[in-house]
Parts: sequence; structure tokens; C-alpha cells
Amino acid sequence: MSQNWKIQDIELDTHLDWVGLCDPTDYTISIVSHQREEATSITLLHELFHVMEKTLHLDLSEEVVDTLAVSTYHLFKSNPDLLERIYGSTKKN
Ligand SMILES: [Zn+2]
Repeated sequence: MSQNWKIQDIELDTHLDWVGLCDPTDYTISIVSHQREEATSITLLHELFHVMEKTLHLDLSEEVVDTLAVSTYHLFKSNPDLLERIYGSTKKN
């Protein structure tokens, strides 16, 4: 999971049946960009959990991936200092 993943925004296309997609072959996560900010963030988290699922061969259901994404979104939204606590300060001087 230490690969450097590229995140690309995709324009809304009515032919798409997804709003987010992760491709482990070229380390790209595609996110449909027209969504509300919260939905976009949850979609990104959803795809990140798919990355972990695929990398660790966990075989999680879509429901579990969705639950983890929504829960993680609200956890960090309600506790904005958690990321700094986990990773240390990311502010550049
Ligand atoms: Zn999914």
C-alpha cells in the first residue's frame, strides 16, 4: 500500500455506472467530480478501502466497504485533530 496512488477527477457521464473506481494495475483512483463535497470525500475513502481490500486480499463486501468509508469520514470530520495525532504535523514551515 506504500505505492503512490494518482487520484483523477472524472467528468459526469451518464453512461458510467460508478462514481469511483480504483485500478491497482496503474495505481489510479478515478472519482466523478460533480458530486457534493461530502459525497466526493466518502467516494474517495470508499476507493481507498478497496485499495486496502485488494492489496490485503480481504474480500470485503460493498456494504462493508461503504460502512467503513462513511464511518471514517464522520470520525475524521468530528475529530479533525486525529490525523495530526496519528501522522504528526504535516504543516510545512
Ligand atoms: Zn465499491
